[in-house]
Amino acid sequence: MVIWIFDQSGMWQPIELQGTPMKLGVQDGRPMVTSDGRAASLGLLYPWRDRFTATRYVLFPLEQEMLRVNGRRLFGHRLLRDRDEVALRCPTGSGTVFFTEESLPRVVAFKSSPGGGPPTFCFRCKTKVEDAQLSVLCPRCKFWYHEMQERSCWSYDKECAGCHRTTAMDYAWKPEPVINGQVATLAARMARRRAATSEQSRG
Ligand SMILES: [Zn+2]
Ligand SMILES: [Zn+2]
Repeated sequence: MVIWIFDQSGMWQPIELQGTPMKLGVQDGRPMVTSDGRAASLGLLYPWRDRFTATRYVLFPLEQEMLRVNGRRLFGHRLLRDRDEVALRCPTGSGTVFFTEESLPRVVAFKSSPGGGPPTFCFRCKTKVEDAQLSVLCPRCKFWYHEMQERSCWSYDKECAGCHRTTAMDYAWKPEPVINGQVATLAARMARRRAATSEQSRG
């Protein structure tokens, strides 16, 4: 899971959360995420795992008045979801951060699962991905691709054939640019709408 923080240089910076507890707060007037036990925080982030998904995070508000998730107050903890927008506002500063469930595609030496199991086939060329071959796991749909010099199936096309994620070795989603100190609201609006829809469907 990644938290996007707007840094002093005026750019969104991705910080990959490593599955350890973190604190979310405000420092020097802007949002920060830290593992520093002494830092004051507005909320605690605890890792949460199940068998099927990568590690996610639960946000426990410490200062309910000073936190908004997708524009709403939190009355309890929340399992953070892709593109959740968390606004922080306290006497010493304010700002907005975004959480995403994305991870970066990486070129790795393929290793078949230790228990044997069925062979893994490249989703582009449909031939077997052999142990030690350089390859990429699509971070979104989890299909494997060769990525060797002589057979670069991942970067062969600009999209994953399984889920249409970009094959750029970069995050597929970034927060909107900040204009006059405000996050351009499209992403925020979409996140809010999605939250509202899923709450309705939950009934
Ligand atoms: Zn291939
Ligand atoms: Zn994919």
